[in-house]
Amino acid sequence: MSAAPLLRQVFGFDGFRPGQEEIVNAVAEGRDVLAIMPTGGGKSLCYQLPALMRDGLTVVISPLIALMRDQVRALTEAGVAAAALTSGNTDEENTEVLRALAARELRLLYIAPERLASGATVPMLKRAGVQAIAVDEAHCVSQWGHDFRPDYLRVGELRRALDVPLAAFTATADAETRDEIVRRLFEPGAPQVFLRGFDRPNIHLAFQPKDGPRRQILDFASARRGQSGIVYCGTRAKTEALAKALNEAGLAAVAYHGGMEAGERRAVEIRFQREDGLIVTATVAFGMGIDKPDIRWVAHADLPKSIESYYQEIGRGGRDGAPAETLTLYGPEDIRLRRGQIDEGLAPPERKAADHMRLNALLGLAESPGCRRVALLGYFGETATPCGNCDICDDPPQTFDGTEAAQKVLSAVLRTGESYGAGHIIDVLFGTETDRIRARGHDRLPTFGVGRDIPRPEWQAIIRQMLGRDLIRPDSERHGGLAITATAHAVLRGETRVTLRRDLIKRARPAVVVRTQVDDEDAPLLSALKAQRRALAEAQRVPAYVIFPDRTLIE
Ligand code: ADP
Ligand code: MG
Ligand code: ZN
Repeated sequence: MSAAPLLRQVFGFDGFRPGQEEIVNAVAEGRDVLAIMPTGGGKSLCYQLPALMRDGLTVVISPLIALMRDQVRALTEAGVAAAALTSGNTDEENTEVLRALAARELRLLYIAPERLASGATVPMLKRAGVQAIAVDEAHCVSQWGHDFRPDYLRVGELRRALDVPLAAFTATADAETRDEIVRRLFEPGAPQVFLRGFDRPNIHLAFQPKDGPRRQILDFASARRGQSGIVYCGTRAKTEALAKALNEAGLAAVAYHGGMEAGERRAVEIRFQREDGLIVTATVAFGMGIDKPDIRWVAHADLPKSIESYYQEIGRGGRDGAPAETLTLYGPEDIRLRRGQIDEGLAPPERKAADHMRLNALLGLAESPGCRRVALLGYFGETATPCGNCDICDDPPQTFDGTEAAQKVLSAVLRTGESYGAGHIIDVLFGTETDRIRARGHDRLPTFGVGRDIPRPEWQAIIRQMLGRDLIRPDSERHGGLAITATAHAVLRGETRVTLRRDLIKRARPAVVVRTQVDDEDAPLLSALKAQRRALAEAQRVPAYVIFPDRTLIE
């Protein structure tokens, strides 16, 4: 049967969403496909519909039992023979699924990747006459993403064993994850890649530097009383603290994080799904399993770890297409924390470099002088015109020509051998005679003291904006020392001007206190905080403290 009548009769939709039709056709024609579509874009349909357009069985690999259940229920209600084989099934359910498989009655079979570890699965699927494989949330095959599922690595073997076409779906768009998916799922072949429609025009984008973050979040949430929203937090402890603060302000809020028991977490998910106007304060653990179309706002109390995480997280808002609002807070302490997490992680150097760049891309978005949507879509390889639905379009910030300041930074970075962090570079520019400056002979450089006219915190803000423009990068192999990028050469030669935001420079203040809600058990975070404190003390030449909820730690 062809696509259009099935779309109406089985799924009850009047037409395709942007991008769906081409993908459906390619999958139905039996091509290998990698489709990257935003969250809420309608990826499920892109494998469910083709499964009904051809004969035989399509196997769907999906990472979450709850997702499989929902889909099987919806398909069954629509009269499609679909089933799932999961560890959540009863023995009777399993027996029935295996019978239906052997009788070749099923059109779609959902299985968890863990099933592939059993030697019995592949022969069973062979006997069942599988015609195609669909892989949902395909980024789970990426070893370096936060959703990595080792058993996804077996999907490539499954494809080779069954020798049928494979269609993979994900909302994670960056080039590296894409390459990894292609390598692990399709090699030695290459899929047809669809990269569509990343714009979510109904989502209003906004960032603010942290300036009393708890109050900023409370204000934002209070102005949206009665609407369902998510506040993403950097730590488990903060999800609890913010839920409490919101409750005290008379708002219905509940915390969610990976430290809670599975049952408790599920209860929050169900409550959020059913209740109107509930706020969930959550870590990134609150994610893939949520399928609530009318989330009206998403706030970040702390900077996400990368531009992809940001996009995925705000993308949970407004899936029904009605307006949704977002607010992302960030501060220098977030950036140091995220850098520390990358540097102290176990990933190989090239991966760390990529993670720094993704963080820089997010910084560039946070401190963008122009439309945020243009910047965001640009990162995903799409072009756009100023959107009229972001805080920058609403109220464009004042900018100035920062080319000369940028050139000074670049030349200080080059003359010190691309081996030092921002603190030392600012010492050079500002002409601060520290022991290290003298020991390295940096007080004799021609750039020494050329930046005395600009206060230190303003240099910090300038350097941050330069990181966001990818003019400089921290080099993991040189302990985070700043190095200049290819883009920077044109700036040094005076061929490209650098436009900076005045508002972010004027408001720059030295941050000397790191406040944290973290508990001691969170060892990696704690060591990141300590490193951050050291970096602060070094950069500002003043004492710095890490403040805990229950005590003050002074180093
Ligand atoms: P994704 O997996 O890409 O995040 P889903 O497949 O869960 O998105 O689809 C999101 C929502 O959009 C679902 O409620 C689905 O029923 C709906 N949807 C999908 N395709 C269409 C369409 N062509 N017309 C209307 N609604 C659609
Ligand atoms: Mg999906
Ligand atoms: Zn805009």
